[in-house]
Amino acid sequence: CTIDKDELVSATCDVTFKEINDINERLRSDLVSLVRTDFFKYFKLDLYKQCTFWNDNNGFCVNRACAVDVVEDWDSLPEYWQPEVLGGLDSVNGTSGGDDECKFLQDLCGGADGKAKQPVRDIDYCDIGDFSNSQAVLVDLSANPERFTGYGGQESALIWSSIYRENCFSPGETGLSLAKSAFYRLVSGFHASIATHLSNDHLNTETGKWEPNLDLFMARVGNFPDRVANLYFNYAVVSKALWKIKPYLSHLSFCTSFDQDVKSKLLNILSQLDSNIFNEELIFEDELSSKVKDDFRARFKNVTKIMDCVHCDRCRLWGKVQTTGYATSLKILFELDEGDEGSKQHVVDTLTKYELIALLNTFDRLSKSIESVNNFERLYEIRLAGG
Ligand code: FAD
Repeated sequence: CTIDKDELVSATCDVTFKEINDINERLRSDLVSLVRTDFFKYFKLDLYKQCTFWNDNNGFCVNRACAVDVVEDWDSLPEYWQPEVLGGLDSVNGTSGGDDECKFLQDLCGGADGKAKQPVRDIDYCDIGDFSNSQAVLVDLSANPERFTGYGGQESALIWSSIYRENCFSPGETGLSLAKSAFYRLVSGFHASIATHLSNDHLNTETGKWEPNLDLFMARVGNFPDRVANLYFNYAVVSKALWKIKPYLSHLSFCTSFDQDVKSKLLNILSQLDSNIFNEELIFEDELSSKVKDDFRARFKNVTKIMDCVHCDRCRLWGKVQTTGYATSLKILFELDEGDEGSKQHVVDTLTKYELIALLNTFDRLSKSIESVNNFERLYEIRLAGG
């Protein structure tokens, strides 16, 4: 790939590719350990929601790897995920609450009085109702790794073209070009990250082994420096969102039944991040661009809804996790009122547990992609050297 590692990742990032590689190397092992904790590995979502964009919902997936193992074997789960505890979860939304330390969900991020207050205006870039929906299922992300599934052809092409079509902002708005470019880069970086994972964890049908496939990586990502750059751009966006919420996490109390050190692991990771990594203030520069921001939010929400139309279960699972993670990052970056500490704390307090889980898992996906890009680069050099 022809990227100059000493160049800045973009005009909105004050870091080079090399600096992001260095940050990523420093925090990678802590992040891997964090997303393997019980708190961060279980995600709840409505996996079988009707696609609202078109009727033809025919599945297409060429191998069993497409399937998601939904948690049904309750006996094997730790105590705090037993149905009665989860039942307590639902009641958090309603009337009861009680003093049970383990009534997590909103309570977990619910601030001093333990109840998440809903913001008065719509600041969400995805539909957060999906987590509390009665159809929602619990999935162990660590048991369903994002990897090659065989999903492809016209079906996946239709999804990607629908996603890219969302990038048609109405002309003539102030600040349009940076917003439009950021939207495109987010989608393309997400696409490049998926392609990196499916190339890195690829089924070699001759040996039956899961292994990196350099040719596939080059054809999908490595031969396109802009796609690699967009992957780094997304890393910068999500990192900045994480950096931004760090001061407001102090009274977020992780229930002690979860791994004791979840919070310290999280804070350790966040302390490796730097505010220079991304300058979100350049995207929607002035008051006039607030219409563009509303448009951006509505369009990104559509991208998250398009995930319901993905035909392969495992791809849909990770598509939903990651679009939720990006949506959460965008909410943090663009909806915190910089002049008002109370409102910043309020937005962080109203994040649901599943937005937080999606945010950290999305960061892990990008972090793994960047590690893989560097690994593919080494494999490529070995090949060039005739090794
Ligand atoms: P595609 O990747 O489908 O790309 C379509 C076209 O988009 C390309 O021809 C190219 O012109 C353009 N394009 C490609 N990459 C970029 C980019 N980064 N930036 C800008 N333009 C680009 N498959 C798996 O094996 N495992 C998964 O976990 C998985 N998850 C998926 C999740 C979602 C939400 C979707 C929509 C698909 C997923 N897929 C997954 C399928 C995978 O993304 C590809 O669609 C599939 O492998 C077929 O690839 P392709 O070569 O036909 O091109």
